[in-house]
Amino acid sequence: MAQTKSPKAQEFDTLIIGAGLGGLIAANVLEATGRNVVLIEALDTLGGASRSGQTAAGGIEHGLKIIPDTEESHAALDWLEKVIGQKIHRTSVEASPLNYDDGKFKPYVGFGDESVRTSSEIEAYAPPKRLELSPAPREWIQILADQFSGTLLTLSHATKMVIEDGFVLETIVNGAKRISAREVVFAASPQTLPALLGAETLAPRVRQKLIKGDFWTSVNLDLVHSQPITDSRAVHILKGANEEPTVGTFHPAVTLEDGRTLQVSQWLTLIPREDIDEEEFVASALKQIKRQLKRAYESALGNLVQERILVVPCSHGSLAGAFEVPGRIPKISNVWMTSAFFSDQKNTLGTLLQTRRCLEEMGDALVDTDLTSASPTVSAEA
Ligand SMILES: Cc1cc2nc3c(=O)[nH]c(=O)nc-3n(C[C@H](O)[C@H](O)[C@H](O)COP(=O)(O)OP(=O)(O)OC[C@H]3O[C@@H](n4cnc5c(N)ncnc54)[C@H](O)[C@@H]3O)c2cc1C
Repeated sequence: MAQTKSPKAQEFDTLIIGAGLGGLIAANVLEATGRNVVLIEALDTLGGASRSGQTAAGGIEHGLKIIPDTEESHAALDWLEKVIGQKIHRTSVEASPLNYDDGKFKPYVGFGDESVRTSSEIEAYAPPKRLELSPAPREWIQILADQFSGTLLTLSHATKMVIEDGFVLETIVNGAKRISAREVVFAASPQTLPALLGAETLAPRVRQKLIKGDFWTSVNLDLVHSQPITDSRAVHILKGANEEPTVGTFHPAVTLEDGRTLQVSQWLTLIPREDIDEEEFVASALKQIKRQLKRAYESALGNLVQERILVVPCSHGSLAGAFEVPGRIPKISNVWMTSAFFSDQKNTLGTLLQTRRCLEEMGDALVDTDLTSASPTVSAEA
């Protein structure tokens, strides 16, 4: 039976689902073209995997934020500067990644012959040079949120897309409210698409990729140490025999007004996405992180001021090559997807590149707009 638009649907030019980095960038760029944009977010906070966290030692990123210092990163950041209307100061940190083996730190040179299930994801965190950015990713979120003056609906979970003739006619939010828009930017995790679209809408091959693909859930441990542990700025890749690796870094130590000097460190390991429902897998991943850290830094777990545990389902993986046109759903004409899963690059860089690609396809990327005058400022830190 043909479906028709409900008379009660709220109408917009563009609906953006998900207010993480990709969704917020898309909202700003599309709003600047004069579109009437609605941005919906399932949670009561914005930023998704790029939101900020608070610790006793100050604000931190939601999980690691290691951005490789490459030409591609600089080009993507140049573009982002235009979107946020601000310079992004870039400090290059040249500190080769380290691992810990046989009682000493060694330069990380890959996993050799060992079979490591998460190697391609972990290697993305081990560039020889990385960028420290100011404003930092969590601050981009605030800037983008402040800049956006369209309609923002938090605690609004897209639960179903109503499709007619290969066109998303309406999106149902929280199971009841209806939003209609001629364009939909899907800036949430693509693994939720089968539920949103209905299994019959996706070709079996695509559905299989989304349901059975190699996606990883990240288990993160942020620690506030009561005293500085190390001044090493290197990315640490910690791994024992028959263990999946943990990746992490130490932040520079900070001295608080009360005279205490604290140091934050952030650690991440990945578990298969199906293990997420089993508390024991998460608990054992956390134990593994601690074991690996203690092996490298005996005193790292003594007198902790704070521990912050974060589990992000299906945060890592790839759908590159799974869709004929990356970020487009076969036979649906008005949906664009901004997730890094569709990019050749991973993580934040992948999100920036894929979001830009979508906006270009929609005809609106600020690619040639000269909003900033000076070239990027890059300083180096050894
Ligand atoms: C723990 C962790 C560590 C990371 N470390 C690094 C790093 O070191 N370097 C790096 O470059 N990158 C890193 N990343 C990756 C980087 O954070 C992401 O690439 C980027 O933030 C993804 O942005 P996004 O907007 O595509 O998705 P997300 O940030 O996932 O945002 C999606 C948003 O959509 C919302 N949403 C989901 N479903 C719905 C729905 N149905 N209706 C409405 N809203 C919905 C979510 O609540 C969320 O706010 C890390 C990610 C994680 C999770």
